[in-house]
Amino acid sequence: MAGRAKYIIEKQSPPVTYYWGPEVDRETARSIGLVRFFTGKPCKYGHVAERWVSSGTCIECVLQRHRTPEYREYVRPVNAAWLEANPGKVDQYNEQRRDRRENEPEAAEQMRAASRAWHAEKSKDPEWRAKERERLRKYA
Ligand SMILES: [Zn+2]
Repeated sequence: MAGRAKYIIEKQSPPVTYYWGPEVDRETARSIGLVRFFTGKPCKYGHVAERWVSSGTCIECVLQRHRTPEYREYVRPVNAAWLEANPGKVDQYNEQRRDRRENEPEAAEQMRAASRAWHAEKSKDPEWRAKERERLRKYA
């Protein structure tokens, strides 16, 4: 992987559990069309978490690398280039989502559930809560 050394993440010792669920090995997961699998064993960074079937990579490792300032710095021009190469794609995506939310009750409920989960997760971070309080003050 290019630039792996730049996105060093903290090793958890003892291992930390991020996922509780049935153990499904990679081949079984692949055969039934799942994109993630779970062995219950920690990755080399001490995450007990799901892994991607495609790469075998620990999901928590990927998430943590994506949160490092170095990665954000690296990905900024990549995203900008994508936006430039794909004019209108974001609008199209948003349009599709709006359409599904309005016309497919099940999809709408899934989006609400995902949003609630995201919000619950963010709310654990006092720094985010403070920023959010500041942001919402405008609308009070
Ligand atoms: Zn990991």
